[in-house]
Formats: sequence, structure tokens, C-alpha cells
Amino acid sequence: MRAAILAIGTELLGTDRLDTNSLRLTQSLETYGVPLVTKAVAGDDETQIAQTLDHLFTQADLLLVTGGLGPTADDVTRQAVARALRRDLCFDDDVATGIEAKFASFGMRMPQVNRRQAEVIDGATVLANPRGTAPGLRCDDERGTVFLFPGVPTELEGMIVADLEPWLAERSGGAGRERGMLKVASLPESTVEERIAPAYAELGRENVSVLAKAGEIRVQFWAAGAPAERRQRLAQMAARLRGLLGDAVFTDREDEDLAAVVGDLLRRRGESLASAESCTGGWLGRRITAVAGSSDYYPGGVVSYSNAVKEDFLGVPAALLAEHGAVSEPVAVAMAAGARERLGATYGIGITGVAGPGGGSEEKPVGTVHLALVGPPAAGARSEDAAGSALVEHRRVRFPGDRERVRWMSTQLALEMLRRHLLGVGSIAGEGNAEGRRSGAEAGVA
Ligand code: AMP
Ligand code: MG
Repeated sequence: MRAAILAIGTELLGTDRLDTNSLRLTQSLETYGVPLVTKAVAGDDETQIAQTLDHLFTQADLLLVTGGLGPTADDVTRQAVARALRRDLCFDDDVATGIEAKFASFGMRMPQVNRRQAEVIDGATVLANPRGTAPGLRCDDERGTVFLFPGVPTELEGMIVADLEPWLAERSGGAGRERGMLKVASLPESTVEERIAPAYAELGRENVSVLAKAGEIRVQFWAAGAPAERRQRLAQMAARLRGLLGDAVFTDREDEDLAAVVGDLLRRRGESLASAESCTGGWLGRRITAVAGSSDYYPGGVVSYSNAVKEDFLGVPAALLAEHGAVSEPVAVAMAAGARERLGATYGIGITGVAGPGGGSEEKPVGTVHLALVGPPAAGARSEDAAGSALVEHRRVRFPGDRERVRWMSTQLALEMLRRHLLGVGSIAGEGNAEGRRSGAEAGVA
């Protein structure tokens, strides 16, 4: 079996929408060991789609098609595939009733235009779409099999799991390729590469790859064979790579964010975090609260963008702001302590920086960010100094890149500082663009 993917949608030929569905479909093909020989993108044009399908059938016998199954007149995938297969489209009462029932469950009447989604290609198998209205279709032809999936990524995902993967599993005899992954937040790509290089010979250089994006390095690795065999191999590979990367690995799950990992650690310890954000404008809070159940350990945060809010809502002394400026170690620490004390959390994080593009100076160039992590006062502190918070770590960093990147990196580093503290593994070492040292003096600016 050889596969081809066709992504349909005029928007995918423009500059503001990316075809990500084909990547998800490719992942399933890899898992079941089906080679992908080509991919295509076509606009919502019946003739164009039908011709592309004819062409793809000359190279592959499994065609995975997404998009263009919507209710509006611009969605013509069903008609185009029917034409390419030289079959009729028939209105299917059962499908229509199902769509009507879906609308009824939301207290709505089915709009007339949705009747188009009940048209089925002669002889096709209807694939249920519990996440939307347009059903998918599977057509077996003498040239091969065509799957039609909706373009909406979550709807596609549902059908991949319910329909495509079981179909592939039946035909692949179980052999295939599977990917494992480790994610690292606190090391530069080159350091990750250096650390894992000793394992390349035994794991197979071609089976391991390092992928970098801002603030996160992924080490991906593949194993082939029958499911049980390849999973055992993946576990061995993961253990070997973890041994080399150590505490730098924060997760082995593609879909797990650093904020979720930190949240789990806080929950397990019965501890909590409050945030005080200036240049990140609540992005840290957004990441933390994107994790369901985060109210267990996150009472909240203060977006203290102006000096007045830093003073009034966090108790940052006006004198500190006047003497050191808003982007400074003492202010970051006072923000963290203010959030911790006023919101009643175990830890406080303060972030203040120059995200750019304007506002930089020689002393504090664009990209300069101060991050402070504070915790409970040290055990044994005399009762008269026991009030307040103890500094766990301060870092002054200078992130390269644009405003968005500086802000993202700030949230990532703040979470990584806390993760490392909670694990008791010490602060981040050897990070190329984020030099810092524990509690105290400003570290060199990279
Ligand atoms: P459609 O099924 O063509 O009506 O598409 C519905 C939505 O899914 C649109 O907002 C598309 O932008 C999105 N979509 C369609 N095709 C893709 C694709 N190949 N990758 C990612 N998103 C897509
Ligand atoms: Mg479309």
C-alpha cells in the first residue's frame, strides 16, 4: 500500500492558513508503516480536485483527503470525488436525520444548507462525526481507497482514531514505526546534541533527531517493528536518552506543556504559586490556567503593567521603582513577594522586562528581563524577620528575538526555574541565551 494526501481548501493556497492536517495524517501512516509518496493541496474547485485525484491514483492506492465537506456552496469535495470515481451523489435520509438530531440537541433547527452534508457518494461507507456535522466517507474503488475527512482538525482527529487507524491496523499486520519524544526547556540545542551524541551509534543516527524551537528542544526517536517490540525498543531508547539528558527533560509527552508539569509538582507537594507579571501581560497565568484543575495550586496573579499597579496591588515600594527602575532585580523580587504574600501562595514569581521593540537603553537593552522566584521564609528565621518571603532565585537574562519571543521565553524560563526548584536540582546551567545565577547580583548579559 502507498498513500497520498490531498488537503483541500482555497485558504490553504493563501498565506495565512497552514495545512496541518496532512502532518497528523502522516503520523498515522508512519505508525502503521504505510509509505507516504506525495502530498498535494488544492483549492475548492471541483475540476481541479477531480484532476488531482486522478493524478494521485497513478502514484498511490490510498488517498487521504481532508477539507471541503462543509455546508456552504464553496465546499465541493464530495462532488469532486464523486466525479473522479464516476459515481453519483445520493441524499442519505439516515445521515440527514443524524445531522438534524445534532442540531436539536443544541436546541436548534437544522439550517437548510446543512442538507448538503447528507449527500453520500454511491457505495461509500459513512464515517460518523461525533464532533461536528459533516460525516466522513470511505470509498473503495478499483484504483484504491479514498477517505474523505472534514477539514476541522478536531473533527479529523476523531475520525483518525475511530476509523482510519483501525482500518490501517487491519492491513498493516501490526508492523510500523512509532515515535517517542523527550522535551527539554533549559538547555540550548547544541548542548542537547552534545549530551546525546554518545548514544547515536547504538540507537542509530537516523533514528534520533533534535528539533529546536524557542525555549524548547525536542529529542525525537523512532523504533520500527510490531507494536509490542517497537514499544519496548522506544522505552529503552527513552531511558538511554534520559540518562544522558538528566533533569533537563521535563516530559516525554508531545502534548504536555511545562505549565502542566510544574502544576503536577505543586499539587503533589500541596503547594501553590502566585504570579506578578509586567512584560508578559498575563501570559504565564494563561499557560498555568490552560491546565484543567490548576485552581488546586494557582490562586491567581496580578498583571502589573504600570508602576502604579506594581505599587498599589503588589506593594512594590515607590522608592525601589524610582531608584532601580521597573526593570530591575529589586522590583522583580518585590513583585514576586507581593504576589506571594497578598495572594497567599507558597511561591511567588515576578517578571519584569523590556520586550521591545522600543523602550531599550544601553543599560537595559531590548530583551532584558528580570525574573524572581520567592518562597517561604527560611526555617529557623527569628520571628521578627519571619514575615515576608525568601528569595529562591533571581535571574537577569537577555533574550534575542522579537517582542513575542521575549515574552514567550520569559514565561518558559519562569516555569523552568520553579520546576527545577521543586525538583531540588539547582538552577539552570550552561544556557546560552539566559545566563544567570542564584539569588543575588546581576549576572552577565548574553
Ligand atoms: P472545511 O472542512 O473545508 O470547511 O474546513 C473547516 C476548517 O478547517 C477551516 O477553518 C479550515 O481552515 C480548517 N482546515 C481545513 N483544512 C485544513 C488543513 N489541511 N489543515 C489545517 N486546518 C484545515
Ligand atoms: Mg473549506
